[in-house]
Amino acid sequence: MTNDNNPHDIEKDPGKGAGSEVWDALKALAEGFGMTFRHLFRKPFTHEYPEYKRPLPERSRARIILTRDPDGGERCVACYLCSAACPVSCISMQSAEQKDGRRIAAWFRINFGRCIYCGLCEEACPTSAIQLTPDFETCNRDILSLVYEKEDLLVDHGGKDKEYNFYKHAGVVTQVGDKGTHAREKAPVDVKSNMP
Ligand code: SF4
Ligand code: SF4
Repeated sequence: MTNDNNPHDIEKDPGKGAGSEVWDALKALAEGFGMTFRHLFRKPFTHEYPEYKRPLPERSRARIILTRDPDGGERCVACYLCSAACPVSCISMQSAEQKDGRRIAAWFRINFGRCIYCGLCEEACPTSAIQLTPDFETCNRDILSLVYEKEDLLVDHGGKDKEYNFYKHAGVVTQVGDKGTHAREKAPVDVKSNMP
């Protein structure tokens, strides 16, 4: 007996006999086995790693590098923004100043044993210096070897952002001139003006 007010009660289709239900069950069973059988003859999608290394997109987030600007200079100005943005505090550095007045990292260290490859350091960096690359093969049982120094991080190219040169926009004061007065240097932007 069914209760008209109970939505969980499912009434049987009076037009359907026991033979029809058996037939439906057999049909569903045959369809399931048919699908399995078809997959037996399909080419597998599995790639054997490390024999095959799948090329990853350029924007994949793995091993971090410190890049250079188009003139070959170090992009990092040791502003500590990446270090401040890092949620696991695995970036540390010490700032210094070059003879021409440009800031530079005297030393720069990333502990990849703690890094979670979130990319926040790259987002925070104003000079495009710190970038994540698709190179994910950094695993190592020796945890101390995952502490990378500046020499291990610095590369000789611009990474994803090849053209950007921070000092072309920001300028720098040196003993020989003010911002924007050096050879091939653009005038600095007046931050108090709305004009371009
Ligand atoms: S990717 Fe994330 S966790 Fe790794 S160094 Fe950058 S901010 Fe820190
Ligand atoms: S890598 Fe970028 S954010 Fe980090 S200290 Fe250098 S310039 Fe600043």
